[in-house]
Amino acid sequence: MSLHTKILLGLLLGAACGVTANLAAPPPSPPVEAVALVGGVSAGGAFPAGIPWQAVREASLPPPGTVLAWVLRYIMEPVGQIFLRLLFMTVIPLVFASLAVGVAKLGNMGSLGRIGVRTFAYFILTMTCAVAIGLLLVNTFRPGEAIPRSTRDTLLAQYAEEAGKKTAAPVSFGIDTFVSIIPRNPVQAAADMHMLGVIFFALMFGIGLTHIDPERARLALQVLEAVGDVMVVILNFAMRLAPYGVFALIFSVTARFGFDLLRPLGLYVVIVLLGLAVQMFIVLSILVWTLSRIRPLEFFKRIRDVLVTAFSTSSSNATLPTSLRVTETELGVPRHICGFVLPLGATMNMNGTALFEGVTVMFLAQVFGVSLDLGSQIIIVVLSVLTAVGAAGVPGGSIPLLVMVLAYAGVPASGLALILGVDRLLDMCRTTLNVVGDITAATFIARSEGYALASRAETRAETM
Ligand code: ASP
Repeated sequence: MSLHTKILLGLLLGAACGVTANLAAPPPSPPVEAVALVGGVSAGGAFPAGIPWQAVREASLPPPGTVLAWVLRYIMEPVGQIFLRLLFMTVIPLVFASLAVGVAKLGNMGSLGRIGVRTFAYFILTMTCAVAIGLLLVNTFRPGEAIPRSTRDTLLAQYAEEAGKKTAAPVSFGIDTFVSIIPRNPVQAAADMHMLGVIFFALMFGIGLTHIDPERARLALQVLEAVGDVMVVILNFAMRLAPYGVFALIFSVTARFGFDLLRPLGLYVVIVLLGLAVQMFIVLSILVWTLSRIRPLEFFKRIRDVLVTAFSTSSSNATLPTSLRVTETELGVPRHICGFVLPLGATMNMNGTALFEGVTVMFLAQVFGVSLDLGSQIIIVVLSVLTAVGAAGVPGGSIPLLVMVLAYAGVPASGLALILGVDRLLDMCRTTLNVVGDITAATFIARSEGYALASRAETRAETM
């Protein structure tokens, strides 16, 4: 059986067993956002400080002493964690090495500028389009108005405490946000998983390499390339564990998931999922087809490892090693282009997150009866895109930033309480779109630089 099939089987079996366990032993307390954190917290470490994540996570475990609690605690969580940690472990060296090599290989500031501008334009345009689709849907179907007042109050009461914790320290956005992209200490930035800082340093390092004695630069490049290769080897080990890791992650999430919540929030969930599907299967498919000349079906078939990894980890960062490998070997995008576009994309280009934020703000505005005119909605589009750029590529990474957009819209931030229970499900789906968006960007850039895209397998066959 091929690895793809095994991973997919892990996903399906994990979901089936998890749902069964959930039905047999429903989670005790309403599933706090802890569900979203399974795996993310300790592995990513990028969550706001001051929140007792561990306690929050434990609170969503089934009552101690039950078989399910034991299975989750001693089997599923450790297996899921080991898989995630193996992925996260390679992220920093891989981002640094691939970005620095990518930039250095672009050769000069001219091509770096050209590719950089095109990449950012693609990111911003696709994210804007995603939010626009979301707003169109949410304005048409108005899911917020369908929620009975009593349901709203019950949900608010149930989740108020959790939402209170999250909204206590809203993230602010200002000139300091930009200044803080430049790390004072790159090692510290890496240790904190402050991806924008690492990216900035790697870009500068790559540019620096093009300005030193070519002989020495060549040596440095060789070392960096070897570092990248070693990370890929580690990733391959990790991927052997993937079927079990994916099973465990999906099991842990579904066993604790509050399926009851899907009913009152059903329309909202459907709108988010519909928006994500439209962006992924219509907009991005058309882009891949017209700009990169790859048939959409073929495209999705080739990146299925990435789809499953993104879906089960809910983390763009954890998926980055897999997307780097797949985009190079399966789609034939040259390594220096993957190395440049994908790490940037994993941190900044989040189509799914932008769409989710726009829809959620409008949905909560409808629930609370806040009316937003066209002008305000345009600002919400801009803010959703900006905060998606700033969101960390870890599970639930966008939630702290969402608070900011809610504040702008005049929607009570405690409204977040309404959607926390279903967030993990949405997170899995929006992360998948986030990552697909990054890969389409890489194929577009490669194509626009004149590279013919083909898989390594095809290339091999042609040269034989
Ligand atoms: N989990 C998402 C990602 O990693 C970020 C988010 O929307 O919360 O791409």
